[in-house]
Amino acid sequence: MADQARVGIIGGGLGGLAAACTLAARGHRVLLLERNPFLGGKACVLEEAGFRFDMGPTILTLPSVLRRIFAEASVPLEAGLELIELDPQWRCFFEDGSRLDLVSNVDDMADRLRDFCGSGEIGDGYRRFIELSRRLHDISERYFFWRSVGSVRDTFRFGGTFQPGVLRDLWSLRFGRSVAGTVRAHVPESRAAQMLDHFTQYVGSSPFLAPAVLCGIAHMQVAEKVWYPRGGTGAVPRALAELARKLGAELRTECPVRRILTENGRVQGVETESGERIALDAVISNADSVRTHRELLADQAAARFLGRRRYEPACSGVVLYLGLSKKYDHLLHHNFVFSRDAEEEFQAIYGEGRPAPDPTCYLAAPSVTEPEVAPPGGEALYVLVHTPYLRPQHRWSEMLPEYRKTILAKLARTGGMPDIESRIVVERFLTPEDIDRRYAVLQGAIYGLASHGRWAGAFKPANRSPDIRGLYLAGGSAHPGPGMPMALMSGWIAADVLHHDLHAGS
Ligand SMILES: Cc1cc2nc3c(=O)[nH]c(=O)nc-3n(C[C@H](O)[C@H](O)[C@H](O)COP(=O)(O)OP(=O)(O)OC[C@H]3O[C@@H](n4cnc5c(N)ncnc54)[C@H](O)[C@@H]3O)c2cc1C
Repeated sequence: MADQARVGIIGGGLGGLAAACTLAARGHRVLLLERNPFLGGKACVLEEAGFRFDMGPTILTLPSVLRRIFAEASVPLEAGLELIELDPQWRCFFEDGSRLDLVSNVDDMADRLRDFCGSGEIGDGYRRFIELSRRLHDISERYFFWRSVGSVRDTFRFGGTFQPGVLRDLWSLRFGRSVAGTVRAHVPESRAAQMLDHFTQYVGSSPFLAPAVLCGIAHMQVAEKVWYPRGGTGAVPRALAELARKLGAELRTECPVRRILTENGRVQGVETESGERIALDAVISNADSVRTHRELLADQAAARFLGRRRYEPACSGVVLYLGLSKKYDHLLHHNFVFSRDAEEEFQAIYGEGRPAPDPTCYLAAPSVTEPEVAPPGGEALYVLVHTPYLRPQHRWSEMLPEYRKTILAKLARTGGMPDIESRIVVERFLTPEDIDRRYAVLQGAIYGLASHGRWAGAFKPANRSPDIRGLYLAGGSAHPGPGMPMALMSGWIAADVLHHDLHAGS
């Protein structure tokens, strides 16, 4: 019977957990198989000597996505998570010594930009940019979000082919233009533009190569703000896992899947590393979408997906987890210490495949909101620097010591932390090689597939496989893309289309 189908989920990242909750809430028998000893994938936690670090995501936006997943089970989000709003949202440090806070109120921000840049035009340009961003966000809501989309053709299908309103909407997506070009057309001041460029870092892509539709991210943050879950972002997968279990889902850790079993173009089940064969009515893969096809499916079944397009990994990164004996009072919860030159930085990472010589460092100083993350007076400082995805010549065990020096010198010079070395009492790190190994991603990519290409850069593989019946994709390398809210939404979409397919008997 359709509503008692047995569904397997490969991977317990945010997408996998969101799918497990949604399917279990709709009455399906859910079995989630995770290869690591912990759930949450990249959203995991490191604890050492009284310091607690979220290891991966730290900036939570679009809480409405989490709310919708909890609503599947008729549970208010607040029953599982306490969310604290952060405003100012980020503090920006620039190479010339200037500082600027990003605040959520558009008029307030426009005034701050006017004063910061000494130009009323920049303030007005910011207002116009956010208005454009609002329209792009609205179009994303209507055509891309909450449905399985893999191409412009799918977008037309959902919009109603060639209706004048739909054509107008698609035209306003500004196909053929980049984020960086659109930002600078509105806000032609290098520091302000660098700040606005950085929304594309949420998807690990270059603003010079990403399509203008991604300017919509700025308004998503204006509309739904920035949040910190009490207990850290690790509280999100914990709450989802608890909900999934309450709804009857079985979540198994230390259980890698070796193969997805198919017959006549249809999923039959999975085989685990230990050789166990499990018969299933459908499978959602929360593992990287390219590696799912390369490694878990037979060549024949995977050929169409792998031949469909060139899959470019998004950027990777280096993270330093620094337990500090004494916190820095000039930091907010979220901070960006910007590179001296945005073009040079993005060209190095995305064009030449080498670490930026003068990188932008993102810093999370969570003790600002939750002092318990560190011993009294200390800080669990998280430093993330985006790097190229892994190339054969990258040997991070050899490259890290030198790059660590570059990062700490940058924090000393531009971030106002000249004595940082002397405050470090605990130090751990994560390199692109670690990311690749821990989370089984594509060439160390943090954010799945790059959103590069001014025409089709925003499209990711659809959640319903067009090639193999009964196979669905969820996570940062599937539609609608990476980042906590998008990975969660992809899990919901995969579960939703699977549910409808089973009811339709396909
Ligand atoms: C350092 C860093 C910083 C980030 N910062 C932010 C941020 O501030 N804000 C934000 O929104 N996002 C951020 N992100 C991105 C965000 O964390 C990811 O987009 C999101 O967590 C990905 O979720 P996912 O569903 O794709 O699953 P993943 O986290 O990729 O998990 C997939 C899971 O599948 C498992 N798996 C793979 N293969 C198999 C197999 N064969 N069998 C069983 N299990 C398997 C893996 O072990 C893993 O647990 C960051 C990520 C990193 C790494």
